[in-house]
Amino acid sequence: MSFRNFKMVSYVVYGRGSFNQLDEILAPQRKGEAPMIFLVDHFFDGKPLLSRIPLRGKDKVILADVTYEPKTTQVDALAKSLKEEFGTISGVIGIGGGSTMDLAKAVALMMTNPGSSADYQGWDLVQQAGVYKAGIPTLSGTGAEVSRTTVLTGPTRKLGMNSDFTPFDQIVLDPELTKDAPANQRFYTGMDCYIHCIESLEGTYLNEFSKSYGAKALDLCQKVFVEKNSWDDECDDQLMMASYAGGMSIAYSQVGVAHAVSYGLSYLLGTKHGIGNCIVMNHLEEYYPAGVKEFKYMVEKNHIEIPQGICKGLTEDQFDTMIGVSLGMKPLWENALGKDWEKIMTKEKLRALFDKL
Ligand code: NAD
Ligand code: ZN
Repeated sequence: MSFRNFKMVSYVVYGRGSFNQLDEILAPQRKGEAPMIFLVDHFFDGKPLLSRIPLRGKDKVILADVTYEPKTTQVDALAKSLKEEFGTISGVIGIGGGSTMDLAKAVALMMTNPGSSADYQGWDLVQQAGVYKAGIPTLSGTGAEVSRTTVLTGPTRKLGMNSDFTPFDQIVLDPELTKDAPANQRFYTGMDCYIHCIESLEGTYLNEFSKSYGAKALDLCQKVFVEKNSWDDECDDQLMMASYAGGMSIAYSQVGVAHAVSYGLSYLLGTKHGIGNCIVMNHLEEYYPAGVKEFKYMVEKNHIEIPQGICKGLTEDQFDTMIGVSLGMKPLWENALGKDWEKIMTKEKLRALFDKL
């Protein structure tokens, strides 16, 4: 038995208005004239947050188009243009949802590692530390702020650059930044956290470390989506900590059925992570009975629409592609169903599940 020895984020600041400390946080990380690059979710184009970014010298703001989830080609192009323009940079600061944070992590790594980011999709393939990187979430739920991965769609697969070099050096958790998120988006991303908790707590990889964080994250998700009758500042505070704790929980366990199936959807149809997980969770009574019941209650209570029938009219080849991608996520299935998972989740069974979505 060998226990995972995992790398965590080095510095964490939490609190309303903590974004205002960014200048002093970054000061010691500046390497001479080399600029800091602020990769900012395009939602903030023209918004007041842009003018609060502490630009110095040659620092640059780049708006990240996150209409689609991050691609290896997008990461490579960004890293290439930064190398051409500046040679070296002091660091990359990702300000946005999971997509922007993942982009920032990947670009920081590709400033020092040769080749394409697609070469590093997998586990522990990254060889060099990247440049300094900081993450500042503006949506709560993915846990991307604490994880050791950055999920990228590459030429042949959707897979993260999982490595000890991937976690941020610094995260700034300022719940004020999430307050303008639209209710649907907030729910989908928040449910990513809820689903992480259910998958981790109901999984076979569970230990007391991930249980402690998972139970706390679940409790916070329930406070926000079950107990509260309208959204307030406390919800933003709680959901940001839920995301952090949910991320810590899966750091020492694994996600499960909803994620494995949702990866199939996302690969073929481009379904985004949060909503994709919700579409799948809606049909997982057999695997997570209590979690799915509560999930449905939260959907209703928060007046959220979960799309139905998204696999209607797909060809057998397309179903096969999704099934292949999904069954490829072996650790997720093993966590969810145990060592004998291949006997339980057959192709036929998964085909029937995709049919329902
Ligand atoms: P997102 O980053 O894809 O953003 C969703 C939408 O919300 C975008 O249109 C964005 O512009 C907008 N947005 C962001 N902040 C906003 C705000 N404050 N107000 C209004 N709109 C805002 O959404 P997400 O759910 O946070 O992230 C999903 C991504 O995270 C996927 O690419 C997924 O693969 C990745 N992910 C990564 C990890 C990890 O560990 N690295 C874990 C889970 C998910
Ligand atoms: Zn997730």
